[in-house]
Amino acid sequence: MPEKYVYSFNEGDGKNKHLLGGKGANLCEMTQIGLNVPPGFVITTATCLTYLADAKRTLPEGLMDDVKQYMQGIEKATGKLFGDPNNPLLVSVRSGSAMSMPGMMDTILNLGLNSQTLPGLIKQTQNERFGYDAYRRFIQLFGKVALGVADEHFDAHFEAIKKRAGVKVDVELTAAHLKEISELFLQVVKEQTGKPFPESVYEQLEIAIKAVFNSWMGKRAIDYRREFNITPAMANGTAVNIVAMVFGNMGNDCATGVGFTRNPGTGVNEMYGEYLVNAQGEDVVAGIRTPKPVQEMEKEMPELYRQLVELRNKLEGHYHEVQDYEYTIEKGRLYCLQTRNGKMNAAAMVRTSVDMVNEGLISKEQALLRVNPDQLEQLLHPRLDPNHVALVLAQGLPASPGAACGKCVFDADRAELLGRAGEKVILVREETKPEDIHGFFASQGILTSRGGKTSHAAVVARGMGKACVAGAEGITVDTRARQAIVAEHVIHEGDIITIDGSTGNVFIGEIPTIPPTFSEELKILLGWADAVAQLQVMANADTPAAARRAIEYGAMGIGLCRTERMFNDVDRLPIVVDMILANSPEERQAALDKLLPIQRGDFKEVFKVMSPRPVTVRLLDPPLHEFLPTELQLTEELNNLRQLQGTVKGVSTLLSTIRSSGQQPKDLPAPAAPFDERGEEIVSEVIAKKERMLRKVRELYEINPMLGHRGVRLGITYPEIYAMQIRGVLEAAAECIKENVEVNPEIMIPQVTTAQELVRVKTSVDTIKAEVEKKYGVQLHFKFGTMIEVVRACMRSAHLAEVAEFFSFGTNDLTQATFSFSREDAENKFLPLYNETGILQDNPFEVLDVKGVGQLMSMTVEWGRKKRSGLKVGICGEQGGHPGSIRFCHHIDLDYVSCSAPRVPVARLAAAQAKLLEDKYTID
Ligand code: PEP
Ligand code: MG
Repeated sequence: MPEKYVYSFNEGDGKNKHLLGGKGANLCEMTQIGLNVPPGFVITTATCLTYLADAKRTLPEGLMDDVKQYMQGIEKATGKLFGDPNNPLLVSVRSGSAMSMPGMMDTILNLGLNSQTLPGLIKQTQNERFGYDAYRRFIQLFGKVALGVADEHFDAHFEAIKKRAGVKVDVELTAAHLKEISELFLQVVKEQTGKPFPESVYEQLEIAIKAVFNSWMGKRAIDYRREFNITPAMANGTAVNIVAMVFGNMGNDCATGVGFTRNPGTGVNEMYGEYLVNAQGEDVVAGIRTPKPVQEMEKEMPELYRQLVELRNKLEGHYHEVQDYEYTIEKGRLYCLQTRNGKMNAAAMVRTSVDMVNEGLISKEQALLRVNPDQLEQLLHPRLDPNHVALVLAQGLPASPGAACGKCVFDADRAELLGRAGEKVILVREETKPEDIHGFFASQGILTSRGGKTSHAAVVARGMGKACVAGAEGITVDTRARQAIVAEHVIHEGDIITIDGSTGNVFIGEIPTIPPTFSEELKILLGWADAVAQLQVMANADTPAAARRAIEYGAMGIGLCRTERMFNDVDRLPIVVDMILANSPEERQAALDKLLPIQRGDFKEVFKVMSPRPVTVRLLDPPLHEFLPTELQLTEELNNLRQLQGTVKGVSTLLSTIRSSGQQPKDLPAPAAPFDERGEEIVSEVIAKKERMLRKVRELYEINPMLGHRGVRLGITYPEIYAMQIRGVLEAAAECIKENVEVNPEIMIPQVTTAQELVRVKTSVDTIKAEVEKKYGVQLHFKFGTMIEVVRACMRSAHLAEVAEFFSFGTNDLTQATFSFSREDAENKFLPLYNETGILQDNPFEVLDVKGVGQLMSMTVEWGRKKRSGLKVGICGEQGGHPGSIRFCHHIDLDYVSCSAPRVPVARLAAAQAKLLEDKYTID
């Protein structure tokens, strides 16, 4: 049972977001630092939980008594009375949990209006139109949120009256129209609920408090929490904020607006936001009228603009963070209604972090901690190719940057359906509502024809880092007909469009994109990160091109070069196949002799690109059958070949297919050579080779190839393969040294289970080293190490450390081995269900399982270093690029993490955060 249900804005602790919710805590804090906030109070999140725990859903005993008492406080502060026919107080009832969940829960405005208080409001404001406007808004919102009446019942009447009156926007409706609408709305409620609209203001308040509490368990709120991993420890239940209403729709000296203290799209330090004169806040956010940019206020309402600038400066000065705030101007007075930390895209987060450090607002450490490392990947999203000329179909507001392309869909359910089926879709709507959230998750981008840069669509898309073009008014969206019309173009569902959230442009078809470049600010921020971090960040890269990209992203070396990937090019694969098909060591050596210069060339180029950084070359790992087609493929191909064999047409078709596949260049005659002369013969050769391949595939067949003849086991059974690779690495290093290029190669052995395997390979390494040193006349320095990816290697780590100079955890295989979950199949079969039902919190192939796999790693490091002090240890499995896993790697004192190039910036920041937060690390 919570001790205290209610806190006034004057008494609540602004730091206690868990109890008061983010909005409530900030309203308390803003009140207490002297900002002009309307009076109000907060019902705690703990009260919400007590209410939700009660199966009968009755409010905790005594709550409404407290509410009545605190309402008196608001009455005193405003000089108005709740339910009074002459001088009525109206309140808003707003949701707000500890974590910002924009639009996911409910809020009710203008509460306290009824047939008695409405005339009082009209008398008080001398404004009949305003009174009825407030009333009809209240009936609809309360009807929808608290009584469950769908919007469409209200909208139908509203649109009919607008049509009859011949007006386009609601501000053109007269008091008489609004009065008629209010009466119709009251009828709607009666028809739909079977009861009259509640007249008692305290009954209204009680129903509204329950509705807000219930919205914590609404579908969209639950979906949102699941998507963003909001756990009960982060936010549990919603608070209810009850705040005196102030009105932005009492005339032309009134306005309402939303703003960010800096531009959330770019991070530029400038006034940013939108406002509407003579409107209520919901009009701006819902995108019903397209608002004006705040810069226009400077001309239109200069004094209020000055006050707004002052408010913005005070907010940032106090919170030391970019704020997303809402305000209302009532009869020339500015009220701040809400503030919260601004959700921004990655570019803006990075830029504001660097700027705020330079402005002295925050420290470098704070700057590093305020950016979510995962968000950085957004910066690596593609942009539209500026050299590609394409006709702009329509233009809207650049609401969330990035380019996105996909099939048009016109409702969120369909977007979800197609998105789940793996289709790329763009959600196209007139405007979006919070209930569309599942469609956002499934879409590449969002396009709306109405609403501004702070509309729901824009805010949610920015938070998710998805491209969004909002308010493209040239587009008429017809959801029912599943089409959109732009001038003479009709876009049907399924048509491909491209949107550019950085310019607001919309195009028909798919536009080519180019990869983004690093901003100066990101370089600066990551430079600070590197200075703080203890872990080094390496890249998994297998080719010179990938190595170049890794350097661009700031990799400090290559932690894993999978040499098998170097074999996959069309000019190499046939040689590898010959090596596999070899019937004798001599035949195999002949193929290896051809591969040696190719490997040496690759290694040399990679070493040069990375110089002087370390490059860890892992010797061949996968089972050999992976380089051959499958048995089924070969059988089918052979059947086809045999059918075509002997027919002239068949032979020539075959030859051109073989040539265009680039598979067997050596088997083909020169292009000009007449096929029919040697054609038959070549086809017979191809058939013979395929038959050999089929025999080999059958010979290599293993029931469990991932536990089979792979990794070092290959190196032991075919020592000449590893010898060729070792020679390739060492000769490339020797050539670099001769060219005065500093190199730091490392040779790494996969799938090691016992020190004896390492000893065997090391002997070969020593022999080849001596030969290469002699041949080139240089001294070679390199490290010899092992992957740790089988459980036995962990258990025998002390022995492995006697031979290995470094360890690298292959957590893809180690996770497979620890769980006995196939890394190939688990993610498609049972893991999603395990995650959904909470049997496993995360997918262990993405997020390191610190309790199981991590435990093994921790022991391995300890035992390995006991034997060889200073043993270098890293991780090169996929989890090495995951921020939470990186914190664990720091915790167990690894030297480096290695991940794919686009994760390198993420890992650099995560490594710095791991250091900064090391004292707070716990494994729960
Ligand atoms: C691993 O097992 O984690 C690893 C990096 O090796 P691979 O993914 O190539 O098996
Ligand atoms: Mg592996």
